[in-house]
Amino acid sequence: MSDLLRLTDDGLYCEAGDFWIDPWRPVRRAVITHAHADHARPGSEAYLTSSEGRHVLRLRLGPDALIEAVPYGQPVFMNGVRVSLHPAGHILGSAQIRVEHKGEVWVVTGDYKTTPDPTCALFELVRCHVFVSECTFGLPIYHWPDPRTVFAQIHAWWQANAAAGRASVIYGYALGKAQRILAGVDASVGPLLTHGAVERVNAAYRESGVALPATEYVGGVADRARYRGALIIAPPSAHGAPWVRRFGDCATAIASGWMQVRGMRRRRAVDRGFVLSDHVDWDELMRTIEATGAERVLLTHGYTAVVARYLQERGLQADVLSTRFVGDADDIDAIAEKA
Ligand SMILES: [Zn+2]
Ligand SMILES: [Zn+2]
Repeated sequence: MSDLLRLTDDGLYCEAGDFWIDPWRPVRRAVITHAHADHARPGSEAYLTSSEGRHVLRLRLGPDALIEAVPYGQPVFMNGVRVSLHPAGHILGSAQIRVEHKGEVWVVTGDYKTTPDPTCALFELVRCHVFVSECTFGLPIYHWPDPRTVFAQIHAWWQANAAAGRASVIYGYALGKAQRILAGVDASVGPLLTHGAVERVNAAYRESGVALPATEYVGGVADRARYRGALIIAPPSAHGAPWVRRFGDCATAIASGWMQVRGMRRRRAVDRGFVLSDHVDWDELMRTIEATGAERVLLTHGYTAVVARYLQERGLQADVLSTRFVGDADDIDAIAEKA
C-alpha cells in the first residue's frame, strides 16, 4: 500500500492531491478537522472546513483567512483525489477527513467521540483501508460514565452551592466543552454566566444554529449578588487568575476526561472533577478501529505507543504518527501550572 498521506515538516501531507490536513506550519491548502488551536493554525493560503465549522474556524483564524466550507459528505476533488468531510462528534463542525485515490481510502479522525452531543453532529463511521486515529485517552483505565449521570452530578453540586449562597465556577475548554456544558444543564436552577472567551464562542455556535440557553457575560453583570447561585463557565486558564476573585468564596470544578484519574483534581487545585470528555474512551476507540475495517492504523495524540503495541498484538498493522497535536491536555495544564 502506498502512502497516500505522509508526515512532512509542515504536517500530514497528501502529495497526490497537494494538500495538508491540520498543518502546523503555513501551507498552500489546509484541510481542517476542527477549530481547536493545535489543529487549526493561522497563516495558510486557503482552508477547507465543514459548513457547520465555518463560524468557529473564522473565530480561530480571523477575518482575513480564506475559508471554503463544504457540507458533510459532499466530495471535493483535488488533482483527482476525492476528499470528503464526515462528522467526528468532537465539537461543532468537527470532521473526519476521508481521502480516496486509486481505490485506496484513508480516514483521518482529528479528535472524535461517538457519544451523542447536542452541540454537534453525531460521529459517522467511515470504512477505510488506513485509519489515522487520535488516542488521547488510549488506556483501558479510561471509561466514560453516561453523560446524563455526569450532568446529574453537576446539578447536585450547583444546587448545593446555591443553597449555601456560593457561586459555582466550572472550567472547561472555551471551544466545545463550555457549550456542551451549557446545552446539558438545567437553566432553571440559576443564572448562567460566562467568561468572555466562552461568550465569544457561544456567539459563533448560535450563529451556526446550535441551541444554547441564555447566557450572560460576567463582565456585564452589575449586581454582584447575582453571582451567588449562578453557574459560571470559564476556560481553565481563568483558574487562579484575578478574574475569578470577583466571585469571592466560590466553589470550583473542572469538566474533563482527565478527571477520571484519581489525584488529578487535587493536582489542579479545584474542589470537584466531573468526567466529561469530547474524546473516545478505550472501548469506543477499540470498537471504532474494528468497525472501520482498516488493515492499517496510524495513531496520533496521547498513548500512541501503547495503543500501537496493543493493536499489533491483535494482528493489525499499527504505527505511531508523530504529529504536533497536543490533545486537550494543554487546557488542563494551564491549571496545573498555577496550582
Ligand atoms: Zn480537539
Ligand atoms: Zn487534537
